[in-house]
Amino acid sequence: MTARPPLVARVVPDLPAGPPGQIYDYAVPESLQPDIGLGQRVLVPFGKRKIFGFVVELLEESAVDSLRCVELIRDPEPLVLPHQISLAQWISSHYLSPLPEVLRAMVPPALRTGRPGARPRRSKSSDRAVPPAPSRIPPELTLSPQQELALAPIRRAIMWSRAEEFLLFGVTGSGKTEVYLEAIKTALGQGKGAIVLIPEISLTPQTVARFSIHFPDRVAVLHSALTPAERGREWRRVRAGEVDVVVGSRSAIFAPMPNIGVVVVDEEDSSSYKQYDRVPRYQAVEVARRLGRILSVPVVLGSATPRLETYHQALHGNAITMLRLPTRYGNRPLPPVTVVDLRDELARGNRSPFSSMLVESVGEALEHSGQVILFLNRRGVSSVVLCRTCGEALGCPNCSVSLTLHASAHLCTCHYCGHQLRLPDRCPSCDGRILRALGAGTERVEAEARSLWPEARILRMDRDTVMHRDAHREIYQAFAERRADLLIGTQMVAKGWDLPGVRLVGIVNADIALHFPDFRASEKTFSLLTQVAGRAGRGDEPARVILQTYSPDHPAVLRAVEHDYEGFASTELEARRQLRFPPFTRMVVLTRSAAIEERARTDCEGEAARLRPLGAAVGVEVLGPSPAFIPKLRSLYRWQISLRGAKLEGIREHLPIGRGWAVDIDPG
Ligand code: ADP
Ligand code: ZN
Repeated sequence: MTARPPLVARVVPDLPAGPPGQIYDYAVPESLQPDIGLGQRVLVPFGKRKIFGFVVELLEESAVDSLRCVELIRDPEPLVLPHQISLAQWISSHYLSPLPEVLRAMVPPALRTGRPGARPRRSKSSDRAVPPAPSRIPPELTLSPQQELALAPIRRAIMWSRAEEFLLFGVTGSGKTEVYLEAIKTALGQGKGAIVLIPEISLTPQTVARFSIHFPDRVAVLHSALTPAERGREWRRVRAGEVDVVVGSRSAIFAPMPNIGVVVVDEEDSSSYKQYDRVPRYQAVEVARRLGRILSVPVVLGSATPRLETYHQALHGNAITMLRLPTRYGNRPLPPVTVVDLRDELARGNRSPFSSMLVESVGEALEHSGQVILFLNRRGVSSVVLCRTCGEALGCPNCSVSLTLHASAHLCTCHYCGHQLRLPDRCPSCDGRILRALGAGTERVEAEARSLWPEARILRMDRDTVMHRDAHREIYQAFAERRADLLIGTQMVAKGWDLPGVRLVGIVNADIALHFPDFRASEKTFSLLTQVAGRAGRGDEPARVILQTYSPDHPAVLRAVEHDYEGFASTELEARRQLRFPPFTRMVVLTRSAAIEERARTDCEGEAARLRPLGAAVGVEVLGPSPAFIPKLRSLYRWQISLRGAKLEGIREHLPIGRGWAVDIDPG
């Protein structure tokens, strides 16, 4: 018997606050050599302690002279697959997240801490999404010529295992889901699997059911409402190859699927793909694209309103191939959109959330037994200052984003550059009287609707009504089965729904997202309006959209009325180019949290002063500091600095990482 060559395991410590980016070498004793593998955790001496760590590389030699030894293997099966280790390393360096944190994010807690091998009771919850066996026959699909054209290059890339990226840019109701389904069939036909990301908010029974019906018993569903045990169980089924289609939200991109054939990201512009509130702060769409390159498989990004970054790349770069579905399936028309100017309503003394036209139209739709969706995105409105005459929001002269009112100090602040303004008495553009927008929330809209239409069966869907985990499904189901006539909702009702009974969509206030202090405010508004409008007119009855706004001349509103994404995108991209915002630059937001406000502010000032000359040398501007958009969160004060430059090379390695600092690369 020949002696084995010496083996070196490169190990990332699995510590809560692991040293960022550090990997340590250990010798693997001969007795452990047959069993050790990438992605397992091993017990190793670390200083005076013993800790667990992930094996991320196995080598024959090490640059270090005297190595300490791996003591035991914790996991008989690797927790992460080799391609996931590569992905984790990319995420760690791209998003400046410590590698142990990224690896930990890839593995459900139940598997990291739990009793290995313990199989939790088969719970019913993930099957709840799957319709009963009375409706489980997959409908025969004949793709339209338009859908066939889009599918062909995706199919070729799957068959030839090519790392191609596609933007399936199709209007609402154009049948993008059918294209995904056929692409997945191709992958399954090759003996491979598929990962499908869908936005958290549209994890509706309907979306999941469409996949489950086509691939019976082959679908795992991963979303944030699963219990740890359920998550662990789904993860094991994927890992064991018991299922080969994963449908899930953001973190499903980390599903441990051994043999992936295609990755699909539906509604790729959904903000739910960005993890902004904890480490690793990653954008799942970009992670999906990287995964495709690591595995050499195609990635399909679908949307009626793609992120401008994606659209711009598909149009001009050669990284993403554009595939278009310009019309609805079956040539159904997009619904006509009628604009109501809320300034006129105000002038007439109408202070209710409903214009007379909206009241009439709701009544009419209900009379014809049609269903109505009333959409209102309430967030953030009360802190923005609007002019009651011209409808404009008070904006930053440097950044062209809305200023946020800090009511206590009567100061308006820009959350990018820190520019401050005392709350003026009159509007700087038209000299009209300033109105502090208070805006009706969904609750008030519901109350008014109940008094206006006492006979109607009314439901409301927002963060407050979907607190318990099945509420979202229950409300959706009741509306889908026409046990309700009128649904009032936030952006939860905007995406993905395909309900033929909807004859009227009323947008109660189109402007709310417009005044968000964010350079993406226009884009987000346009997308939201287009998506909400797209819920109407999916049946045979004529349908319409009423859009109420204080800003009828805003490009986001004008273009949404015409369902004109490309017109909007070209104007908005030009503005972004001039103001040096992404996709023409890269941004980083550094947030410092501290129990004492002074500390957060002075630390930011210190960092800004340190980074300014470093940035200047590589063409990166340092903006701020300014209070964060949410200036106090969980009793911590938050200040921030923004960085902006054509490239982040040369500055990335100088950014503060560690306690109290949050680094958000490519925010938004
Ligand atoms: P999108 O995801 O682009 O908004 P959907 O996939 O929801 O569009 O399709 C809109 C409607 O058209 C759905 O009811 C869907 O079942 C139907 N549809 C799309 N393509 C086909 C097809 N090839 N055959 C039959 N029905 C289709
Ligand atoms: Zn500014």
